[in-house]
Amino acid sequence: MDHKIIIIGGGASALMLASLLPKNTAVLIESNTKPGAKILVSGGGKCNITNTLMGTEYYLGDAGFVQPSLKRFNEKALMRWLERQNLDPVIRKETQYFCKDSAKELVDIFSKESRKQILCLNEEVLEVSKRDDIFYVKTNKKTHTAPAVVVASGGLSFPKLGASGIGYEIAKSFGHTIIKTAPALVGLTVQKDQFFFKALSGVSTEVKIHIGEDVCEGALLFAHKGLSGPAVLDASLYWEKGKIEIDFLPDFSWKSVQGSKKLISSLLPMPKRVTKAFLIQLRLEDKPYHKLSTQELEMLHTLSHYSLAPAGTFGYSKAEVTKGGVDTGEIDSGTMMSQKEEGLYFIGEVLDVTGKLGGYNFQWAFSSAYSCAMSIKGK
Ligand SMILES: Cc1cc2nc3c(=O)[nH]c(=O)nc-3n(C[C@H](O)[C@H](O)[C@H](O)COP(=O)(O)OP(=O)(O)OC[C@H]3O[C@@H](n4cnc5c(N)ncnc54)[C@H](O)[C@@H]3O)c2cc1C
Repeated sequence: MDHKIIIIGGGASALMLASLLPKNTAVLIESNTKPGAKILVSGGGKCNITNTLMGTEYYLGDAGFVQPSLKRFNEKALMRWLERQNLDPVIRKETQYFCKDSAKELVDIFSKESRKQILCLNEEVLEVSKRDDIFYVKTNKKTHTAPAVVVASGGLSFPKLGASGIGYEIAKSFGHTIIKTAPALVGLTVQKDQFFFKALSGVSTEVKIHIGEDVCEGALLFAHKGLSGPAVLDASLYWEKGKIEIDFLPDFSWKSVQGSKKLISSLLPMPKRVTKAFLIQLRLEDKPYHKLSTQELEMLHTLSHYSLAPAGTFGYSKAEVTKGGVDTGEIDSGTMMSQKEEGLYFIGEVLDVTGKLGGYNFQWAFSSAYSCAMSIKGK
């Protein structure tokens, strides 16, 4: 046999696994010419590595499956490990850990650590089969063999950075179920009634978005193609179809301004451009608040529960992650090994586990890689 372990992919989860395994145990196969392409562009080039607020409530997926890995290698353990590699992260936005200057600091650590294993770059995995307890991993260059394979090939988001559906294809070929995939942490496109948003492109305002029972808070950014910004990206985790409700005036009380003589555009705590665009849309004049009729007040108050049905999302080319994936009910939560095929493992985004914005997806990639590494090392 060529190798002990074959790791498919050279992204966050694969690099962590390659770093944690003993020297010369694995070969890592990556279709890009360099590993860690997504890490480099993540978090605006500074990589939001993890978050001081950690727990299964920040994830979409089976909490019972996510919990053991998050517990075994949590944000503190991750930070200790990275600090031992001389990373000097900083906290931004109160709870989010970022690289100090550039995501390259993290990629450099992984490049150095993963050199313990064989790296096959610029090599694309085409299919995986198994005969007589040996896995055959066919690539565009050759066929590798090993008794264990770890699928760390991520989801479908950002195909220009190497994303492919190979992980799902491999899973299906071994009898696994794939939970329907969709772009997530992505902007939402709007329908005709909201085309006036286009004129506000570039403007950002604080909102609370209700999607069924779920609520996402933060900034909403009006974009040329629709809506973006942290609150909208998080909302895309929960939205599939149908209406969402946006509160453009969170933490604002209409009662507190009762009888106010101020102009509406001066009264409402949101960018004047946004207020004015909505007033035109609601066919309301920008007049002193106390002069509004009951019917006009009712119209204006819809800004606290503005209902719209997104047309769709900006798609995989713009999505930070892919929700859905390999059904975690068929994977051992302690080891990340398939319950259908001995020696076949799945880690990272290819699984049906998706984190919110804020470093949760890297934390999952690293935590699941850690569980897998400990299981392999124990064997
Ligand atoms: C623009 C952007 C910004 C992001 N910012 C953040 C952030 O700040 N914080 C955060 O937590 N998350 C962020 N994410 C999400 C995060 O990058 C992913 O969740 C994480 O990288 C998943 O790790 P992974 O190892 O599972 O998959 P990936 O990192 O996607 O790695 C999979 C690797 O497999 C390779 N591959 C695919 N198919 C094949 C094949 N057939 N043969 C060989 N190799 C193959 C790919 O080239 C890729 O390198 C961001 C994502 C994007 C796109």
